[in-house]
Amino acid sequence: MSFYKIGTCDYCDEENQILRPSPFMVDMSSMMCEYCWNETKKEYMNSNGEYIPDSDSRKEEYKELTSNLVNISPSYLKSISINAFKHPDNLNGKIVGIEYVTPKGLDKRLCYKVQWWDIEDYIPVSDVEKGIYKIVDTIS
Ligand SMILES: [Zn+2]
Repeated sequence: MSFYKIGTCDYCDEENQILRPSPFMVDMSSMMCEYCWNETKKEYMNSNGEYIPDSDSRKEEYKELTSNLVNISPSYLKSISINAFKHPDNLNGKIVGIEYVTPKGLDKRLCYKVQWWDIEDYIPVSDVEKGIYKIVDTIS
C-alpha cells in the first residue's frame, strides 16, 4: 500500500488530487489533498502552535507515486476526442512527468507533462478519465 495516492479528497471533494492520510488521529482512514492539508497546517499553527509537516514530507514516497504514474514503461497519450490536441503526424505524446499546474484564471490541477516531439504540453489527468486522451504504450 502506498502512502500517497491520487483520488478525490475526503474533505473538499476535489478530484484528481495527490492525497495523503488525514492528520487527524480520529480520522486516519480519510484521505486529504494538499490544499486542505496546507489550510489545516496554517490553522493548527495559528491556534495552538501545533506543528504539522508539509504535505510532501515523506519525500521518497511522494516521488515514488509521481514517478510510478509515468513509469508504466514508457507511456504515451493517444488523442481520442476531436477536442484533444493532435500531432500533425498522428504520433502519440510521451508522458514525461506529472505536476500541478495553475492555468491563468483557473484552479490548480494535476497534469501529465507530455512531449509531442518539439511541443511540450500539460494535459489534465481528468481529461484522461473523461476519455479525451487514453494512455497507451506505443508511439504511433
Ligand atoms: Zn481537499
